[in-house]
Amino acid sequence: QTETSWFYTDAAAARALLQPRTRFSHKGNFGRALLIAGSYGKIGAAVLSAHACLRAGAGLTSALIPQCGYKIMQTALPEVMVMTAGSNKKIVSDFPPLGAYDAIGVGPGLGKDFKTAKALGGLIEKMISPMVIDADAINLTAENQAWLAKLPRQSIFTPHPKEFERLVGPVANDYERLARAKEFAQRYQCVIVLKGAYTAVVLWNGEVHFNTTGNPGMAKGGSGDALTGILTALLAQEYDSATAAKLGVYLHGAAGDLAAQHNGMIAMTATDLIEQLGHAFE
Ligand code: AMP
Ligand code: MG
Repeated sequence: QTETSWFYTDAAAARALLQPRTRFSHKGNFGRALLIAGSYGKIGAAVLSAHACLRAGAGLTSALIPQCGYKIMQTALPEVMVMTAGSNKKIVSDFPPLGAYDAIGVGPGLGKDFKTAKALGGLIEKMISPMVIDADAINLTAENQAWLAKLPRQSIFTPHPKEFERLVGPVANDYERLARAKEFAQRYQCVIVLKGAYTAVVLWNGEVHFNTTGNPGMAKGGSGDALTGILTALLAQEYDSATAAKLGVYLHGAAGDLAAQHNGMIAMTATDLIEQLGHAFE
């Protein structure tokens, strides 16, 4: 057990992590990102994560969704390339070959059908580069703990407190939550993003980075889906997992703070947050 080192991600720390875009870059330099998300009634989660992925600078953003979401996604986000898999309402079949993608984020609105689980288990076995694992992909991992040994190293989990407890069992308080996250990150060589006020980014090397941005206006459906898109975009742009997690969580919170300035914490939506990402990056 290594010593815990505590850090804070403030504006200066985040700025130091951000890579500038060079004049002669083209979309191929910023990576191919794929979001695997959505089920009947939750196609919005797929749209939000793909939208955030675009706004966080991915060169090419694709979405793999169930058939019922095809027109919705193409209409909402013309910049996104869309593939469908499985049934009308859920992603249930094996995925098409996904070797062309630099980064994959999976989980928002996915549902927990046992066939979805089978497809996800197959994907995890094949993947070699780090993935972003959120929402129902966390819940499915909790139910299939054998996947953990097969996951690409340095993958990023983004649980809210309930999802984290599904993954590791009940925790009594915040101190125990952090300790368990550290243990988990070290055991499986992954990043755990413990979401909430002052989100903690827990790294495999024992470092804990507390975020300084964000506000309770973000406690609303869709906020987490946006974070998944941002992290996937940063991985696609070749940020390493630790940097992507620290920088992405910071920018997500900063965009949330700008959205609260414009719309107020009560009325602000996840889409408002995503629309502020440009200003957050600036
Ligand atoms: P989810 O529960 O998956 O939609 O994720 C919610 C997102 O909103 C996470 O990124 C949280 O960190 C963020 N969030 C929720 N409540 C707060 C809060 N009180 N202060 C700051 N961020 C929050
Ligand atoms: Mg969520």
